[in-house]
Amino acid sequence: MPAIDLHSHSRYSDGSLSPTELVALAAKAGVKALALTDHDSVSGVPEAQEAALEHGITLIPGVEISASWGVHNVHIIGLQVDIHHPVLVAGLAQQAGARARRAIAIAERLEALGMTGVYEGVLALARDPESISRTHFGQWLYTNGHVTTVQQGFDRYLGPRKPASVPMPWASLEDTVSWILQAGGVPVLAHPGRYPLSRTKMREMMTAFQDAGGLAIEVATATEKPDMVQYLAQLAQQRGLAASQGSDYHGKPAPWIALGRFPKLPKGCEPVWQRWGWAADAFSSEQAAPQLV
Ligand code: AMP
Ligand code: MN
Ligand code: MN
Ligand code: MN
Repeated sequence: MPAIDLHSHSRYSDGSLSPTELVALAAKAGVKALALTDHDSVSGVPEAQEAALEHGITLIPGVEISASWGVHNVHIIGLQVDIHHPVLVAGLAQQAGARARRAIAIAERLEALGMTGVYEGVLALARDPESISRTHFGQWLYTNGHVTTVQQGFDRYLGPRKPASVPMPWASLEDTVSWILQAGGVPVLAHPGRYPLSRTKMREMMTAFQDAGGLAIEVATATEKPDMVQYLAQLAQQRGLAASQGSDYHGKPAPWIALGRFPKLPKGCEPVWQRWGWAADAFSSEQAAPQLV
């Protein structure tokens, strides 16, 4: 099992566990190095770092930033970022404000469809107005009997062009990559196979990402089909991009995903952690990654 998991969520976005619980579970699962990559937030990192010290594993400070590329939404992960860097902090504050406003707008749309107590309900789930995600809306729709699965919540109400969809002015792909670089981090294009894009468009987006300074793509993720993993590995090598790997663990919202469980990085990939100076064989030998100083 891969011991390095570079994509996970806590309660500070749409995961169900606290950072402490997440790190404890990762350690129990045999993960030696975990990146906490909450959506548009680094607020859980200090708590996760403290827990990682206790459990003797390495915590990589990370974030998964929502970005716009034309009309498309893409996710840009920042790994090994300085969570206190003012440019990153200001960028994330802007995103959080937009997220809080969007939650009110989504709730209004659902109430216009006859539902009641929507905003109060999702806020109770998310705890903080700035971390309300569509996942919370999906959960609320499910627990209140408006849909029979969370997926149906996206298919009927929350997905693109559905009645409660609110298009978001997320920061541009270029800006998000730039924030991460300025914060000393490595920008990683998250789950490239998951966007509703043709392969041609996906490669075009990858070019825009690289032109902006992007350095790696997520090659191995839990939900990726084997031929997509191979294809992404090939693209990464052709383009001189490093390869990342991770579960995208959320806990309860996606119970079929486990920490540390995802396909192996195909041979020939340059593991992304080499970009911040870890030993080249950290992955293949599955040894503990060195503690960062
Ligand atoms: P947001 O950043 O608030 O727009 O929410 C995006 C999150 O919703 C993603 O990170 C997923 O966790 C979740 N999500 C997106 N699409 C779906 C879907 N079709 N079914 C279930 N969860 C989804
Ligand atoms: Mn999510
Ligand atoms: Mn994502
Ligand atoms: Mn994610």
